[in-house]
Amino acid sequence: MDLPVCQNCSQKWTWKMTMRQFFRFKRSMICENCGATQYQSKESLWKMNLIGIGPYIFIPFLIGFNTSLPIVISYAAVAILLFLMISPYLLTLSNQEEPLF
Ligand SMILES: [Zn+2]
Repeated sequence: MDLPVCQNCSQKWTWKMTMRQFFRFKRSMICENCGATQYQSKESLWKMNLIGIGPYIFIPFLIGFNTSLPIVISYAAVAILLFLMISPYLLTLSNQEEPLF
């Protein structure tokens, strides 16, 4: 796992820089070093979706075992937080927007 590297200027993005780009909620990201538009690579997008969805698969089981709601909610909150913290390491960049399929 490594932080994303700009495909235009080869600058490694910092965790904070990557987070700032995530919170633009766009598929295109701007390199703060050279200003080039970068896109999330297809592989990285799939990986992130799978890892992001993973923890929620267990929620129906938690509910099934009569786990109290506050515990289920805190489990979901921790899962979101952990995912946010590791997501910059899952991101790889591409110069072109790649089709998902
Ligand atoms: Zn760059």
